[in-house]
Amino acid sequence: MQLLLRANGQQAAIIMENAGDQVLVVGEHRYKPAQMARKVRRYASQMWGSEIGPEILGERLTFEALDGGRSSGPWSDSGSFSPRSGSFVSLGRWDEDSTVGIALHELAHEMHLRRGGYDHSDGVLREAVSLLAEREAGLVRTFEREPYHTASHLISQLSELPTFGNQPFGKRWNELMDLTNDAALADLVNFYLDKSGRLGLERWLKRFTDNLDLRDALLSKLAVTSLRYSLELRRQLIGNVVRCDPQISPDQIAHVLDSVVALDRRYPNDDLGQIIDFCFAPHARQKRRFLALG
Ligand SMILES: [Zn+2]
Repeated sequence: MQLLLRANGQQAAIIMENAGDQVLVVGEHRYKPAQMARKVRRYASQMWGSEIGPEILGERLTFEALDGGRSSGPWSDSGSFSPRSGSFVSLGRWDEDSTVGIALHELAHEMHLRRGGYDHSDGVLREAVSLLAEREAGLVRTFEREPYHTASHLISQLSELPTFGNQPFGKRWNELMDLTNDAALADLVNFYLDKSGRLGLERWLKRFTDNLDLRDALLSKLAVTSLRYSLELRRQLIGNVVRCDPQISPDQIAHVLDSVVALDRRYPNDDLGQIIDFCFAPHARQKRRFLALG
């Protein structure tokens, strides 16, 4: 792994693996380049095994220490990746272990590219893949700006769900590799929430229709509706769906979901949970009436 040092207009490159016990101070932080290289290598091989070839770590990942610890350019605040030039990780902003996490984030973009998914994925999915990897390396960040905000929100929800989070990294990684956009990621959250919480969505869908396209269409609509929901609101939305009579028509349930979105937009300060209950109320099965007859 290469480390570029730049100071007073001079530039030098060192091979991190050969840096011995050397300590580098950049800004407020101290780094041991040889130790960092070892940590990055260990995580990368735990995550991707032999799929991560030696040329990736040797030639496609570069650490930089710039004048005064401040990086240049709007994108290089901590790390950057481009399919053409690979990954750059700046020292100075984060401590050593977090910087290792940033390196794994950028390497995940590289691995996503090599799997062929990077070019076809939207910004949320690209960042979600990388946030999964940095989390695995112990770095958990929150973000204000998009697409990072939505990506980190969905990845932290997935990680919270034991049926997803307890799987080996390779399994979780491969599941994300099959997706290309934010809605598909929200659908994955709903799928694992249904599994973890035994909400009964899968069972209900089978009674709703035999037509797989119709099931998929409803799941996508649920995913888009719940894209920015908390796990609690997702639970409530799915809970309401499975309380509908499975005889409900596809158009009717699509209409209910549209009205949830419309009311939420019109009354952004109202309690969304109440809006959901309100929209589904006319379609809920009347369990009590059956009990009364019995
Ligand atoms: Zn990224």
